[in-house]
Amino acid sequence: MLNARIKKEFKTKGRVSFSLDASFTVRRGITVLFGPSGSGKTTILRSIAGLVGPDEGRIELDDHVFFDSSTGSNLPIQRRRVGFVFQDYLLFPHLTAVQNVAYGIRSATSQERCGRAIELLNLLGIAHASGRRPHQLSGGEQQRVALARALGSDPAILLLDEPLSALDAATRLRLLGEIVELQRKSKIPFVYVTHSPADAIRVGDSALILNAGRIVMEGNPSEVFNAPRDSAVLEAVGSENILVGRIQDHNENEGISTIDLAGCELVIPYTALAKATPVTIGIRSDDIIVSRERIGQTSARNMLEGTIKQIVQDGQQVELMTACGVNLKVRVTPQAVAALELGPGVKVYLLIKASSCHLLS
Ligand code: ADP
Ligand code: MG
Repeated sequence: MLNARIKKEFKTKGRVSFSLDASFTVRRGITVLFGPSGSGKTTILRSIAGLVGPDEGRIELDDHVFFDSSTGSNLPIQRRRVGFVFQDYLLFPHLTAVQNVAYGIRSATSQERCGRAIELLNLLGIAHASGRRPHQLSGGEQQRVALARALGSDPAILLLDEPLSALDAATRLRLLGEIVELQRKSKIPFVYVTHSPADAIRVGDSALILNAGRIVMEGNPSEVFNAPRDSAVLEAVGSENILVGRIQDHNENEGISTIDLAGCELVIPYTALAKATPVTIGIRSDDIIVSRERIGQTSARNMLEGTIKQIVQDGQQVELMTACGVNLKVRVTPQAVAALELGPGVKVYLLIKASSCHLLS
């Protein structure tokens, strides 16, 4: 378990241009650190790794104190046992894949190091490329080498800073699954930084939401993204609902597929993906229509029944946080709230056209 309290200010021309003040705990599994660009995600990772010195605070992994401003302790980078995977791989260009991985391994003999490096390349499914240099590897292969290298140092925690952002969509999706598997095998906690809500929901066992240097919400990713607590969280996570499910059935004639969302079903436009394939669906909160009554005849393919849990007002826009088998946020106007007498506990029906359900991955 990692416990951190980090305060850090950056100054530009003598004035504070950014202030980070974050306290959080990282437990088992994959913790997603999500936030818009410039919110302080990289600064947090660099502070944990020891690449940035906080002004104040304490960082502790299990019983090892990495940093404590009150006692002046500051463990050097190499003694923290932190693995780091960067956005842009940062492999040594003159070394082969296996040499890159062996570089970080601390075993006694070079033979042992090489053996362990091959083992790791095998684990990542790229042993065939072990003799190639970075420029002879695809982006996905380079990132796999970077992952193998980070694991080679036998870290007690792995930090991944937007590791897939330089890759094409298909490779990203595959690596996303591999990263989850890798975490399950290695059993060490991963902190996964991203600004993609879909990736966050797909890999995260829990999520920390960062906005302007502050943690504004933490918890289960689908709760955090689809039922944000207040307007600061809403601002950070955006107005799209992100749902994870599996393909349940197809009706090619009608041009639709059905998704099992573990809580309810959703009809989306037809997709050729095989049954049981995991998928991520995006629905914009202003594409959902709310009704107080069950509507008999409607062209909308989906009608979900549930209740309003909370209302979050953000300027002239109101977002209803509903529980309809799954959490869904629904954007309405203040006039609609008044006219329909919407409020916490009120029963509602949500109408969603199949064409408003976008297959994200
Ligand atoms: P993120 O990774 O969420 O995009 P960063 O942690 O990289 O955010 O940066 C947060 C803010 O701190 C940004 O405004 C960035 O410009 C600023 N910043 C980062 N590093 C430094 C530095 N060494 N000196 C001054 N400002 C910095
Ligand atoms: Mg960053």
